[in-house]
Amino acid sequence: MTNHHTHSSRCHELMTQISMYIDDELEAHLCAELERHLADCVDCRIILNTTQKTIELYRRHYRLGSVALPPAIESRLRQALADAGYTSPGDE
Ligand SMILES: [Zn+2]
Repeated sequence: MTNHHTHSSRCHELMTQISMYIDDELEAHLCAELERHLADCVDCRIILNTTQKTIELYRRHYRLGSVALPPAIESRLRQALADAGYTSPGDE
């Protein structure tokens, strides 16, 4: 299935599903597809990892509520999450 991959568009497509994957909301067959891709795509593995950590961090801060993130970090987090197709709880 993998000949010379049209790497970036495939990655981009899957990256839009990563937040759902992390949230456990992705349909099983899409999960399997994503995992297959992750198995041989280092780039996406790194993105998954980073996104997972970012979301975790973000949620922790949201839960604490009173702790304000420095604006520079807040906007970087938001950007990272937006890139991953993740909508933060505060945006609803
Ligand atoms: Zn990829």
